[in-house]
Amino acid sequence: MGLIVRLVVFAILAYVVYAIYKEFAGNRGSRRCQKCEGNGFWRAARGEKQTCDVCKGAGRVPKY
Ligand SMILES: [Zn+2]
Repeated sequence: MGLIVRLVVFAILAYVVYAIYKEFAGNRGSRRCQKCEGNGFWRAARGEKQTCDVCKGAGRVPKY
């Protein structure tokens, strides 16, 4: 394997580990809102932004 290929593979692995860690740390104390899937809002039928009434636009709700 060339050096560049190894660097790319390492970068991808590092990013995956970081993404998993971020998701894990983010779930501590709060969890993603089930209704809006963590966005805090959704698009209504006419295309307007509808703020989520479960998490009030935060995208996360406290863990029970
Ligand atoms: Zn929500």
